[in-house]
Amino acid sequence: RVPEGDEVSKAQEAVSGKVAPTIFSRIIDRSIPADILYEDQQCLVFRDVAPQAPVHLLVIPKKPIPRISQAEEQDKQLLGHLLLVATQTAKAEGLGDGYRLVINDGKLGAQSVYHLHLHILGGRQLGWPPG
Ligand code: C5P
Repeated sequence: RVPEGDEVSKAQEAVSGKVAPTIFSRIIDRSIPADILYEDQQCLVFRDVAPQAPVHLLVIPKKPIPRISQAEEQDKQLLGHLLLVATQTAKAEGLGDGYRLVINDGKLGAQSVYHLHLHILGGRQLGWPPG
């Protein structure tokens, strides 16, 4: 497990708006391994390598949108699809009592990988507000 401080500093060091391939492109093309639960033409769902809850999954588009703030009008269908895949995956993972969907954006949002991803967190009582 990566300590929270390290995750935040990684996020702050990451280059905002970077379009170069990230580690997630390499998960999509299978050049690095991941525990993949679901795939279709538009997206992929896999287990986060450093889970922050008993269930911690990431939903990513195959299109390398760097961050949610850079999504465009033409991405509307894709963004809706990611949300519906997240809800279906949460159900399949047995998270019927509730869960959280999170998108971190940019430096202050503690984004560390500049390929859009939606976190699904569940399997325990989550606190609010987040840190
Ligand atoms: O939202 P943020 O950019 O901080 O989240 C990136 C997430 O990607 C982290 O939760 C990290 O554990 C995860 N990750 C992963 N597999 C990798 C690299 C990062 O699951 N190879």
